[in-house]
Amino acid sequence: MATIIDGKTLAKKIRENLKIECDELKEKGIKPKLAVIMVGDDPASKVYVRNKSRACDEIGIEYQEYLLNENITQDELLELIKKLNNDETVNGILLQSPIPENLDINEAFKTITYLKDVDGFTPSSVGKLCIGEDTFVSCTPLGVIKMFEEYNIDLNGKDVVILGRSNIVGRPLIQCCLQKNATVTICHSKTNNLKEHTKRADVIISAIGKPKFVTEDMVKDNVVIVDVGINRDENGKLVGDVDFENVEKKASYITPVPGGVGPMTIAMLMHNVIKATKEQYKEKSIL
Ligand code: NDP
Repeated sequence: MATIIDGKTLAKKIRENLKIECDELKEKGIKPKLAVIMVGDDPASKVYVRNKSRACDEIGIEYQEYLLNENITQDELLELIKKLNNDETVNGILLQSPIPENLDINEAFKTITYLKDVDGFTPSSVGKLCIGEDTFVSCTPLGVIKMFEEYNIDLNGKDVVILGRSNIVGRPLIQCCLQKNATVTICHSKTNNLKEHTKRADVIISAIGKPKFVTEDMVKDNVVIVDVGINRDENGKLVGDVDFENVEKKASYITPVPGGVGPMTIAMLMHNVIKATKEQYKEKSIL
């Protein structure tokens, strides 16, 4: 039986420590603040945004939401981002995806100033990550790495296979795992013989978005499994990408869904807001 990596408990511990850091900042007259922009009314986004606002409340981070009509123009969106860039009371800017297809999300991300890039999506953050400099790392990959650290899962020399190459999960994970000296393979929908890759993996991180995609026959004994996927199965139940019940029997460690990577992602967003606040005040030579 595998050890279950308890993301919920770890995330709670991280949030408690962040609350202490946030209180210390407030004693110095600094009030961390996150601005969240949402365009349109995607139901899943509404849930994510609500969870982020709750986490801010719990830690004592101020939270301001900008709910924009789906008919907003690109210029109007960029204007709002620029306004928040220049607003000294705002320390972190998050643009919730998806946004309507007629808008260019990459251009919007590029407009966010580096020091407020709490999602780690700007070219500056991504570039710094690629050359191994300290930066804002996108929240889900950062959460996955924190889980490895907490459970003493050493990636040094290990074969890590990542499933999914999105900009928010798969791609930054390559760099995060490389920094831990793993040998990294990334698979996607055009990968041939995907099972050959997963079969030899010491660690599999799945971020595909398909229920029960990773099955028992695709993994070797004692594999470490991190399931990033958030899906609904045929009964409407929240499940990951991994056939948990059967894969768990072969794995040494496994993350559940829910209660695994999801809570870590939000905790890492809070971590990035506190980090951004501190860096902005260090720039002003106040901290
Ligand atoms: P995307 O849809 O952006 O990317 C999915 C990736 O999976 C793509 O690279 C795609 O390949 C690949 N893929 C799709 N089908 C296959 C297949 N049959 N075989 C191999 N590769 C395949 O998704 P995201 O990265 O945004 O999210 C992935 C999952 O993670 C979703 O379930 C999402 O809800 C969840 N998620 C969870 C988070 C959390 O906090 N736990 C945070 C973010 C996401 P290609 O590039 O070739 O199309």
